[in-house]
Amino acid sequence: MSIDEQVSSYYNMLLKRNAGEPEFHQAVAEVLASLKIVLEKDPHYADYGLIQRLCEPERQLIFRVPWIDDNGVVQVNRGFRVQFNSALGPYKGGLRFHPSVNLGIIKFLGFEQIFKNSLTGLPIGGGKGGSDFDPKGKSELEIMRFCQSFMTELHKHIGEYKDVPAGDIGVGAREIGFLFGQYRRLAGQHESGVLTGKGLTWGGSLVRTEATGYGCVYLTEEMMKAHGASMSGAKVIVSGSGNVAIYAIEKAQELGATVVGFSDSSGWVSTPDGVDVELLKDVKDKRRERVTAYVEESTGATFHEDGSIWDLAADVALPCATQNELNGDHARALAANGVRFVAEGANMPSTPEAIEVFRENGIHFAPGKAANAGGVATSALEMQQNASRDSWSFEYTDQRLHKIMSKIFRTMSNTAKEYGREGDYVVGSNIAGFKKTADAMLAQGVI
Ligand code: GLU
Repeated sequence: MSIDEQVSSYYNMLLKRNAGEPEFHQAVAEVLASLKIVLEKDPHYADYGLIQRLCEPERQLIFRVPWIDDNGVVQVNRGFRVQFNSALGPYKGGLRFHPSVNLGIIKFLGFEQIFKNSLTGLPIGGGKGGSDFDPKGKSELEIMRFCQSFMTELHKHIGEYKDVPAGDIGVGAREIGFLFGQYRRLAGQHESGVLTGKGLTWGGSLVRTEATGYGCVYLTEEMMKAHGASMSGAKVIVSGSGNVAIYAIEKAQELGATVVGFSDSSGWVSTPDGVDVELLKDVKDKRRERVTAYVEESTGATFHEDGSIWDLAADVALPCATQNELNGDHARALAANGVRFVAEGANMPSTPEAIEVFRENGIHFAPGKAANAGGVATSALEMQQNASRDSWSFEYTDQRLHKIMSKIFRTMSNTAKEYGREGDYVVGSNIAGFKKTADAMLAQGVI
């Protein structure tokens, strides 16, 4: 069988086995396309069922999460934790609370996490979890009761050396607090290494809050430098207005860029003169309001429900909202409007067609596995601090993050070159992330 036939046969098997999980199929298809290039050169990576084992989670947990709402009515949600691969270290990855969550979404996220975590160079495996619980419109006590019920089941399956969850969409500092409190109660001990994204007085790390957004901009800046450009003076579009977007905006503007737009699920905001980050934090983080509140309280910003944020003219686009938010038409609009660099702050925000359009138009593209790895990398730094009962300064932690992101850029760039695909950061990050995990899996035998 040729390598093409071999890889197609794995993929067809995977489609059959994981029916109705389009996002998982999409994530695997992208990686397999890169792995063909590796297998041509190093066919031993197909030995011992390695590729099939890599695509099959080590363990998948699905559990009932009952809780009582403020009206005394019982609500039932579904909880997930997919422990995908622990060859490099304990499973590591966030928890997502969003009504769109299902097993396929968690599997796609868990699969991506393997390669992302491997790329950080830190000893962490890949996993992901969450629930179809919708935090929108819930009271603080409802959120607390939900988190406690969720952790009552999850606590049996996690631990400092086993699986270390963190936040993702819908899970921030408040939810991590409630989850940690319940874990501590059930475990009967203060095991700080069991979750990351904790509060600063109980084992959290400085820079963890900012890390995904800052890291995305650090990596983008490296990519821009490699192609003779810089953030300074650039116009940047950032989709989303959650934790990743806010700190991407903050860092981009700190480096001298103007962020000309951001968004939420209700619409998008045009900000030709840049973003007032403090106001945005106040609206989204503290008051948990919609972006329309930002527009009402700022000068020069306008709100739009029609069209899309990707119609804005800019040099750089950072999709920081959610999966498949940027499709082929959006990508064509970006190309037509002069965008030269795209880096993904979210997980898989660009569709395969959009990525193809970037390639055709010579747009330099950093995929999420590399561009948003700063969050999980800083989680691993939080784990290091917990293990040594230490806490590092903001400057030191930020420096470590910066170095990690620069190294990720070099690694994916060099790997792409090594495999004859210079400048193709999708191929570079997939192959580099794969090889480290694959080498560990091969060394550890068929398990
Ligand atoms: N949810 C984040 C991600 O997609 C962070 C995970 C973590 O810190 O464990 O990588």
